Amino acid sequence: MNILKDSFGRTFPYIRLSISDVCNFKCGYCLPNGYQIEKSDKRKFLHLDEIKRLAKCFYELGVNKIRITGGEPTIRKDFFDIIKVLKFEAGIQNVTITTNGYKLDKKAEQFVSSGLTGINISIDSLNKETFKNITGHDRLPEILHGIENLQNLGFENIKINAVLLNGVNSSINDFNTWAKYIKKNKVDFRYIELMRTGDNLDYFKKYHVSSNTFKEYLNENNWIYQTFGKDAGPALNYINPNFKGKFGIIAPYSKDFCKSCNRLRITSRGDLRLCLFGNTGINLRHLLQEDDQLNELKDLILKQMKFKKESHHLELGDTGSTKNLSKTGG
Ligand code: SAM
Ligand code: SF4
Repeated sequence: MNILKDSFGRTFPYIRLSISDVCNFKCGYCLPNGYQIEKSDKRKFLHLDEIKRLAKCFYELGVNKIRITGGEPTIRKDFFDIIKVLKFEAGIQNVTITTNGYKLDKKAEQFVSSGLTGINISIDSLNKETFKNITGHDRLPEILHGIENLQNLGFENIKINAVLLNGVNSSINDFNTWAKYIKKNKVDFRYIELMRTGDNLDYFKKYHVSSNTFKEYLNENNWIYQTFGKDAGPALNYINPNFKGKFGIIAPYSKDFCKSCNRLRITSRGDLRLCLFGNTGINLRHLLQEDDQLNELKDLILKQMKFKKESHHLELGDTGSTKNLSKTGG
C-alpha cells in the first residue's frame, strides 16, 4: 500500500480537516472581532460528498485518524452526517473533534452516540470572568456541565486545551486550579503555547510566554514525563498516579517540535496544507467531484509529500500563509 511519507522519514496517519471557518466565539488570539466573511475567497466550504471522497482517499493512503476542526465545527448543520460519513462510509477508525464546547451540555449525548472516538475542548480558564474575557462568551458553566454529561455517558477520551497567556492564565494558582480539576476528572489537560499568526502580532507580543514555567511546576510537583510511540505527535505528556487526569504541553517553538509531526491539514475549502505554518497548499477540490477520480487524487497527494519541509520557521516570525487558526483549525 502507498502510504503518506515525506523526505525526512515521517509518516502521516493523521489528518486535521477543517469543515468551516465560521466561529461563534471571539477568542483574543484567533478571531478577536468574531468571524468576518472573507470577501476575497468566494469558494464554499467542502460539501458532504467531497468530504466522503477525500476521506476514502486518505483511508487508502493509510490514514486512520481524522480530527474535525474549524472555525467551530459543531455549528455546521450537517456536522453529525460528516462524522457518520468519515467513520462508517470511509472507514476511518478514529474520528475526533476539536470544539469550543458551544452547547456541549445539550449535545453530549449525540456526540457519544455518533461514534466519535475523542473530543478536544478548548477551555482557556476555569475562572468564569477570565474565560469570558478571552472568548467573548459567558459559557463556561455549560461547557463544564457538558463534560460531566460526557463522563456520565461513559465517554473516556476527553482532552482540554488552553492557550497559555502571560499574566492571564499562567500563574501557579491557575496551574493548581487545573491540578485540582484533573485530580477528580479523567481528562488530559494541555497548555498550548500561543502561536503567532498573520493577524495577531500585537496580541502575541503582549501575551506570549514560554511553557517552561509550567514544565518547572510539573517537575516540582512529581509529574512524570511519559513517552509514547512514534505516532504520538508533538504533545509532551505527564502522569501522576495520584491524579485521574494527565497534564500536557504543546510547545510549537521548542527545538524538536516538528520532528514528531504526524499530520497533514485540509482547509475548509479543500486546500491540502503540508504544515500549519507553511506557504504550500494545493487545492484538491477538482479531484473531489466524481468517485472515479480517486486514483488521480491519491497520486496528486502522494506527489505533494516531497514538498513537506523539515520544520516551520515560526521562531523567525515566519507564519506562512496562516492569518489566524480558524482557517486551518489549530
Ligand atoms: N473552535 C474550535 C476550538 O476553539 O476548539 C476549533 C478550532 S480552534 C482554531 C483549535 C485550537 O486552536 C483551539 O484549541 C484554540 O485554542 C487553538 N488556537 C487558536 N489560535 C491559536 C494561537 N494563535 N495559538 C495557539 N493556539 C491557538
Ligand atoms: Fe473560534 Fe476556536 Fe478561534 Fe476561539 S479558537 S475564535 S473558538 S475558532
